[in-house]
Amino acid sequence: MLFSELGLGSEVLRAVEEVGYTTPTPIQEKAIPWVLQGRDVLGCAQTGTGKTASFTLPMIEILGRGRAKARMPRSLILEPTRELAAQVAENFELYGKYHKLSMALLIGGESFGDQIKKLERGVDVLIATPGRMMDLFDRGNILLTDIKVLVIDEADRMLDMGFIPDIERIVSLLPRKRQTLFFSATMPPEIKRLADKFLTSPEEVTV
Ligand code: AMP
Repeated sequence: MLFSELGLGSEVLRAVEEVGYTTPTPIQEKAIPWVLQGRDVLGCAQTGTGKTASFTLPMIEILGRGRAKARMPRSLILEPTRELAAQVAENFELYGKYHKLSMALLIGGESFGDQIKKLERGVDVLIATPGRMMDLFDRGNILLTDIKVLVIDEADRMLDMGFIPDIERIVSLLPRKRQTLFFSATMPPEIKRLADKFLTSPEEVTV
């Protein structure tokens, strides 16, 4: 299969070509069309499978089509570690180079000041670890009322790291009418329970 058969627009396809990818990986082939159709997705995939592009590429496409009036964040990607969040942000910039989307990387270990300034200027996408995300929300720096797409990545690692209460709280603050993409390398009962709670009639994608 070709990238051009997945429903992505020409700007995203050009960016992908420039990165040097020739064919989509299995998770990309299976997940991208569902995400573009606005469906919830439960993805069982490990790092290294091309999972990141399977959600970032269609998200860029969706976000690129509409624009929020006040540039309130329209999507939120939650990652268990700073390193993963930074990697996803890097990929987002690379794949989104032909779209005028703005993004804030909200991770611990870096100054609040810069992250708050970025939020005040207005962003389309939040890429965050749960702890820093909650800190900023509790300080009143994040508005979540316009979030249309939520990604919970590496859910089983979130569980191992004790982030599930934070995740449950964050999700409770989001609009109910939204698209949710949920990825985990393994599906133990606790993760399955969360997926059942957060997703609506998801398409299940396993690689
Ligand atoms: P991920 O599973 O998202 O961490 O991606 C693993 C690695 O595969 C990253 O270095 C990506 O840049 C790379 N990658 C993602 N999609 C493709 C593709 N379709 N073709 C070749 N490499 C890819």
